[in-house]
Amino acid sequence: MPGGRALRPPGRLLAMQNIFDESALTELASSQGIPERVAPALARVRRMAPEWLLDQVQEAGLEGKGGARFPSYRKMRLHRLQEAPVKHLIVNGAEHEPGSSKDSWLLTHHPRVVVDGALCVAHEVGATDVHFAVNEINQDALQAIRTAVNDVRRTVVNLPNIHVNVVPDVYVVGEETALIKALEGMPPMPAGRPPFPIQSGLHGRSTLVHNAETMAHVPYIALAGSDMYRSMGPTGLGPTLCTFGEEFVRSGVRLVPQGISIQVLIDDFGGGLGSGRKIVAVQPGGPSSAFLSSADFHCTFDAPSLKAVGSSLGCAAVRAYADVEAVINDLKEIADFFAASSCGQCPPCGMQTRMLATIVGQLSAGKARRKAIDQIPLIVQANQGKGLCGLIQMPVSPIESLIRLFPDEVAERVM
Ligand code: SF4
Repeated sequence: MPGGRALRPPGRLLAMQNIFDESALTELASSQGIPERVAPALARVRRMAPEWLLDQVQEAGLEGKGGARFPSYRKMRLHRLQEAPVKHLIVNGAEHEPGSSKDSWLLTHHPRVVVDGALCVAHEVGATDVHFAVNEINQDALQAIRTAVNDVRRTVVNLPNIHVNVVPDVYVVGEETALIKALEGMPPMPAGRPPFPIQSGLHGRSTLVHNAETMAHVPYIALAGSDMYRSMGPTGLGPTLCTFGEEFVRSGVRLVPQGISIQVLIDDFGGGLGSGRKIVAVQPGGPSSAFLSSADFHCTFDAPSLKAVGSSLGCAAVRAYADVEAVINDLKEIADFFAASSCGQCPPCGMQTRMLATIVGQLSAGKARRKAIDQIPLIVQANQGKGLCGLIQMPVSPIESLIRLFPDEVAERVM
């Protein structure tokens, strides 16, 4: 990951500072007269007036980093308004999105910052219990977060109850109602809404669920301020973590400023393809995001701009392709994954995801019929709004974008 410890605005985009560096955050707190070395952001928030942090989070424009990218302050303020003797905050570090490893990277390498951020939010919203949900296959992250929690318990007084929860390695656990069921010891199946978790969540209590990366941004916002945070991106949207696929020269997790162009993202931050070939397509936001062709590489890497060109920022797992053959091969894996991940509660979900996987498989093998390709919009239309969660729609955008962006290459594979 680029960047050193100095918490200064970057001189160049590639000199992106590491806002998760615990030593740098502690030094910043010390310069403000805050001596606490464990959970320094919590120490600052405790010195400020109620709702000061929520104002900072709102002014910083911090969005949920799990995929939906909604303004995070809205859920926090709603949770704060709930008056109840027991209120839960769940930090979702389950991360089952294929190609994304940012949350496990944070939990493993910067667990104290995730814990500090969660405790800041718990303090502001009045949560009595904080839960860290970690994927069962990520033992390094589990050990790291347990150590960080023990450190804070030894050092900081007046803490909420803190729990570290191991959750199964099943895709739908990432959905917040399924995650709540997993924490209750039940099979992780998404539930219909209402009630929303803020109203009735874990064990029937008001529950706020935030992604682990969202929590990790909070200490920097609390210590450096919302203006400094916003200044880290050319359009004032702050930074976000990306996972670059293994095809990039600089693969892995990196912090990037939102608002740079896709071209700068893949060339300067990803380093281009390891093969040295020209990139013809990018998937910018994980497996459920629409592909972009090179005609859209001028578009900026942030949720509003990607939405405007029909894609999404999602979990910011970035993939790049040198030819359409590679796009179609990846799309087959994506469609198969979502078909296999349907939990089976809603018959239309199983039917749609399996039908789409079959058609994409035929396309990949060069055996799809034109009639099957033409049926895709009808299948999607017939199942609109028929799932309890968003999984039913997840393969749709990448499939539709392939057909829209590369009609000639699709036609070559149709019988
Ligand atoms: S939409 Fe699919 S994954 Fe979601 S609850 Fe229904 S069957 Fe399960």
